[in-house]
Amino acid sequence: LLAADGTVAASIFAEMSALAMRTGAINLGQGFPDEDGPAVVLEAARQAISDGVNQYPPGRGQPVLLEAIARHQYRFYALELDPGNEILVTAGATEALAATILALIEPGDEVVTFEPFYDAYGGLIGLGGGIHRPVPLRAPDYQPDLDALRATVTDRTRLIIVNDPHNPTGAVFARQTLELIVELAQRHDALIVTDEVYEHLTFQAPHIPITTLPGAWDRTVTISSGGKTFSLTGWKVGWVSAPSSIITAILAVKQFLTYVSAAPFQPAIAAGLDLPDSYFTHIAAELEHKRDVLATGLRAAGFEITLPQGSYFIVADATPLGFTDGAELCRRLPELAGVVAVPITAFCSPANRADYAPLVRFAFCKKIELLEQASKQLANLS
Ligand code: PMP
Ligand code: GLN
Repeated sequence: LLAADGTVAASIFAEMSALAMRTGAINLGQGFPDEDGPAVVLEAARQAISDGVNQYPPGRGQPVLLEAIARHQYRFYALELDPGNEILVTAGATEALAATILALIEPGDEVVTFEPFYDAYGGLIGLGGGIHRPVPLRAPDYQPDLDALRATVTDRTRLIIVNDPHNPTGAVFARQTLELIVELAQRHDALIVTDEVYEHLTFQAPHIPITTLPGAWDRTVTISSGGKTFSLTGWKVGWVSAPSSIITAILAVKQFLTYVSAAPFQPAIAAGLDLPDSYFTHIAAELEHKRDVLATGLRAAGFEITLPQGSYFIVADATPLGFTDGAELCRRLPELAGVVAVPITAFCSPANRADYAPLVRFAFCKKIELLEQASKQLANLS
């Protein structure tokens, strides 16, 4: 976790946002929207502060939010959760991942992820003393190779970490893949941890939580967050749902990580989760339009891309433009085109970085005008 000179290594997202600040380039690197979420949710937080919801809430989360999460899981996925025992509120999905991984692995346990993987997974597996076993996702569709998956999951596997929709590739796993993951977890008595923070940002078909598949619920921990669904990434309200005994284990760790999560944002996110269906369809449709604008711009600039089915990221291959090193391209992109992106190698284990070298990630959760401007500037690359 330390850089070679002994300082704390900045995450790629912080590093690239700092580069955008320094150079004034358009920041399509770190994934955060440039418009805040719904006014009713913002107002609910202000109201909660005025109403004195400012002291430590219960460790599991405020009942008003636990109940709203349960209603949301029922409305969208027909899951019937017990809000008092099967849900835990966390400080963002990040704390949910940390508490889950630290609670569920012992040093030496193997943890399977899909590579490229969200950077926190690698760091947290390391903190827990686990052994990281990534399964590759490859262009053009970034679906896992099922034989590689079968070969990687063994009796040594404790956790399989799924991220669906997937950051950074925007892939949505096929039902057949989700079924195989459940089957392998059952066969090898592993647990599934599924990070579904982009659950409402899908463009082709409604999201399928892996925990709804036959045989999955008993061994699955589902993680989400208000950050993406409500365009409020700085609020850091996340949650976990799982069978009660697993929630108890995760809570045992959470109590020493943050103890509780921010009080006034909890009723506000509850108000968001209760918004009508039209809110959720609207955000996906709006984002799909943004995806198409940036995809058109990237293709016109000469990148090879796969249209993402979910999340707010596009992976672009810079090879046709003559760049074989995405990390170097990202360092030079502010000067070449006034744009910031993130190299995919930042989402890879050191041993496999060469396989993903020419790929870079662009975020499209930005205003249309900004995406059009970035597209215009990127045209200078060819
Ligand atoms: N998981 C994935 C896949 C992400 O992209 C992110 C980034 N927002 C997180 C987890 C972290 O979410 P939060 O900000 O709620 O901690
Ligand atoms: N999840 C966002 C991304 O992938 C930001 C995460 C972060 O800054 N740690 O860009």
